[in-house]
Amino acid sequence: MKIKILVTGGLGYIGSHTVVALLRANFEPIIVDNLDNSKLGILDQIEKIAGVRPAFHNIDLCDEAKTAALIKSEKDLEGVIHFAAHKAVGESVSEPLKYYRNNFNSLLSLLKAFEGRTLNLVFSSSCTVYGQPDVLPVNEAAPVKKAESPYGNTKQVAEEILQDIAAADKLKQIISLRYFNPVGAHESALIGELPAGVPQNLVPFVTQSAAGKRGPITVFGDNYDTPDGSCIRDYIHVVDLAEAHLAALKLLLNGKQATNYDVFNVGTGNGYSVLQLINAFEQTTGVKLDYKIGPRRAGDIVKVWSDVTKSKGKLEWEAKLSIEEMMRSAWAWEQYLQNNQIN
Ligand code: UDP
Repeated sequence: MKIKILVTGGLGYIGSHTVVALLRANFEPIIVDNLDNSKLGILDQIEKIAGVRPAFHNIDLCDEAKTAALIKSEKDLEGVIHFAAHKAVGESVSEPLKYYRNNFNSLLSLLKAFEGRTLNLVFSSSCTVYGQPDVLPVNEAAPVKKAESPYGNTKQVAEEILQDIAAADKLKQIISLRYFNPVGAHESALIGELPAGVPQNLVPFVTQSAAGKRGPITVFGDNYDTPDGSCIRDYIHVVDLAEAHLAALKLLLNGKQATNYDVFNVGTGNGYSVLQLINAFEQTTGVKLDYKIGPRRAGDIVKVWSDVTKSKGKLEWEAKLSIEEMMRSAWAWEQYLQNNQIN
């Protein structure tokens, strides 16, 4: 019997790569997704890669009754990976209610559906909880800073909710993974990031600009206190990130956690500036980018990269894929999208 894992938001960017990793590792993923920011065609793509079509439920987790009914019908679920959430920082500033309603209601109805039952849960958190860290690389013991956006706040408060639930209920074992900047795509180039509208994140903007779908890239500031003046991030390959979820699941399923709640950084431990990333893209793909220096973006963190000591140790996970592989795969996916439509 395969181990059944519920993957909420399993047709999204990180969710779909994690579903593929679960299938490869012989788990049985069950996808829940309301297609709010994903396409049903990703299910076909997953099937092309893995040779198996996972079970899929089109359910909005904010619907408590439907969520409860699904969880009740799936009696032998051994774990849940909860990706489903709104994630656009800028939109969360202009529409905070949309973010608080969706990101909290979905989490709460999921937790309610598991009342009285064992729950091994991996939660998608973010390095945004650190704000601008005082010490770099930043480790998990660093203080959580006041969130810069409602989106960031949903991640901080969700971590607190999960910590409280795990403390109160022995049946709940929870790990929050604090992602740094996920980029890249599966080596098959059959799945990747599908940004809605104009991409807000750097790498999808870079690939779309390179493909001629967008104009020049604007580098948001080159006068920061960094070696080349542009902001620094810890970019992590989405396939490595997917593997981190498997490592977290294994830790939960083996019952090896000392506490019911834990949190891990998921990054490479290396920082790259915007200009370094642009250079890495050009060097790797041979495609010249058109970019200009623009003003700073409000609320940007100047520099952040992860301390991965804890993840390497307790989680027994570490990133393997280089910045070149991130750029190569992101570009291969963009080229795939030029010739293929995902509906
Ligand atoms: N960035 C940029 N131009 C863009 C998009 C992003 O210079 O069109 C910069 C941004 O200022 C930041 C980095 O790229 O320093 C990563 O931004 P992203 O929005 O991808 O991630 P986040 O800021 O959430 O870490």
